[in-house]
Amino acid sequence: MPTYVYECEACGAVFEVEQRITEEPLKEHDCEQRGRLRRLITSVGLILTGQGGSSSSSGSCSPGGG
Ligand SMILES: [Zn+2]
Repeated sequence: MPTYVYECEACGAVFEVEQRITEEPLKEHDCEQRGRLRRLITSVGLILTGQGGSSSSSGSCSPGGG
């Protein structure tokens, strides 16, 4: 379920709301001013992978054989 960011033009509150894609966006903020909500641009797929993941394979000598 995607998360949308809304900003109230009245009180300036910014909050995130989890909504379905088919669900219609919010229009009114549940505050005293009943301000109009504006949906901000959300960046989808912002995944930052840190460095790392060094895999070192250690060779093992098998004794004898045969
Ligand atoms: Zn508000």
